[in-house]
Amino acid sequence: MASTSHVRRGDTVAVIAGKERGKRGKVLRVLLGDGRVLVEKINMVKKHQRPTQRLRQGGIIEREGALHLSNVLLVCGRCDRPVRIGIKVLADDRKVRICKRCGEPIDKG
Ligand SMILES: [Zn+2]
Repeated sequence: MASTSHVRRGDTVAVIAGKERGKRGKVLRVLLGDGRVLVEKINMVKKHQRPTQRLRQGGIIEREGALHLSNVLLVCGRCDRPVRIGIKVLADDRKVRICKRCGEPIDKG
């Protein structure tokens, strides 16, 4: 079981397998224990919602279904395509993710 992931919340990722292949979205949540990830507007599934205080009607709602981490790749802003990610250790020991294709750091700041 992986304790870290190549993607993080807020990353833009591309789906590389399955019925949503080719689509891009922002990572909402990484479910490390499951090795899965929730991506905004990707893999929408219908769920039955019970009435709650906030949503009195209940009924069927659509929400993001989890994708397997191996089915998404980070999108490099510079390459504008899904890329493999490498880790670079900076002089101050901080680790940043870099695009293996162009060498651009993914983590800014
Ligand atoms: Zn790149």
